This record gives sequence, structure tokens and C-alpha cells, in this order.
Amino acid sequence: MDIAHRLESIKSTLPAQCRLIAVSKTHPVETIQEAYMAGQRLFGENKVQEMVPKSEALPKDIEWHMIGHLQRNKVKYIAPFVTLIHSVDSMSLLEEINKQAEKVGRVIPCLLQIHIAMEETKFGFSEEEVMRFLRDGAITALSHVKVYGLMGMATLTDNQAQIRSEFGGLKKLFDSIRQAGYPGTDMRELSMGMSSDYTIAIEQGSTLIRVGSSIFGSRNYSTK
Ligand SMILES: *Cc1c(COP(=O)(O)O)cnc(C)c1O
Repeated sequence: MDIAHRLESIKSTLPAQCRLIAVSKTHPVETIQEAYMAGQRLFGENKVQEMVPKSEALPKDIEWHMIGHLQRNKVKYIAPFVTLIHSVDSMSLLEEINKQAEKVGRVIPCLLQIHIAMEETKFGFSEEEVMRFLRDGAITALSHVKVYGLMGMATLTDNQAQIRSEFGGLKKLFDSIRQAGYPGTDMRELSMGMSSDYTIAIEQGSTLIRVGSSIFGSRNYSTK
């Protein structure tokens, strides 16, 4: 199957409230172009140094989603064009995004990354941290960022019940934050689900799935 068919077969399973981000990290511009020609407009990258040249080489109506860990000193390079930053995992990063967004006259939509997996190595806030963070109200001072929702990655496991419970927990947290209506937030996106677990994520209420290898095939490199 080619890229167009793979995109189509994933999209045909999506409920109306869920959109597909094609994770194009490590893949060349020509491959992204092929997906673009098939109608795909949302792309996800995890490295600033890949996203910037790709965004320059490709059509301007592409939405670029930053899904990987973001260093503060690199925010300035993506601030002019990034659509949504999924991986905000600290107040200091959010402050830097705010600063760079102000410089380019934008309000940048952000998601708070929540640590839901059992692995120790994944980035993100704990539930307690994020609640403290939102209650304390410091983000209301940041007028050039808007918290649009949450992002999470489930444990890398074959245990579907485990994945379901992690995504279900994230959805619960999302709903409770949305209901509380904290200033500085406008909860509309729940980013969860990758190639191996997106069907479970959709079932648990995902609005943005981030799928790479099921569209583009496996990546030829050893570090994610
Ligand atoms: C690479 C990546 C994905 C996509 O992973 P696949 O297994 O290739 O679908 C999704 N989310 C994040 C944060 C990633 O880094």
C-alpha cells in the first residue's frame, strides 16, 4: 500500500471530532510532499532542526505540530509558524514560548504533556503537578500562549487494558480541567494515540492522533 492509501484507511476510521497528524520525523521532504498531494495537511515533527527546513521547503498551508521534547533555546526558531506545541512540560518552557510568541505577534496554542506511562523516561507533568500549576493561576500572566489541552503517551506494552486505563485517565483529567474552566485554558484538544495504540486512544476520546510508521513505514534510525 502507498502513502495515500494508508492515510485514507486511517482517516476512514476517525470519528468527526478526531484529526490525524502525520508524524513525518526522519522522512524527507519528498515523502511529505506525497502525503500532501494525497490531501494531508497536519504534520508532526519532534525536532526543531528538522521542522524548520521542512516548513521552508513545503507549502504554506501545512499545519506544523511540535510533538517532541522542546528545548527553550530553540523555541524562537518555530515561534513564527508552529500551529500547536504538544510537548509543554514546564512553566519555564511555557514562559519562553510566551516571550517568543510576543516577539512575532502571535498567540501560540499549546498542550500540556502529562506523564501517564509507567516508563520513567518520558517527559511530562504528573496529574498533581498540572493541577497545582493550573490552580496557581500563573499562566494568566502569559498573554501570548493559550493552553488548548493535554497530550500523553501510553506505556509501550501489548497490554491493551493498561493502555486503555492510561488513556482513560488522561481523558478524565482533561474533562475535569475543562469543567473547571481555569483562566488561560481553552480545553479543546486531547492528543493521544500513535501507530500502535491509536484505536484505543480514539475509543477513549482522543481528538488528535499522532501516527508515523503506519503511514510512512519504519524509520531508519536508532534514536527516537
Ligand atoms: C514518533 C512519535 C509518534 C509517532 O510514532 P509511530 O509509532 O511512528 O506512530 C507519536 N508521538 C510522538 C511524541 C512521537 O515522538
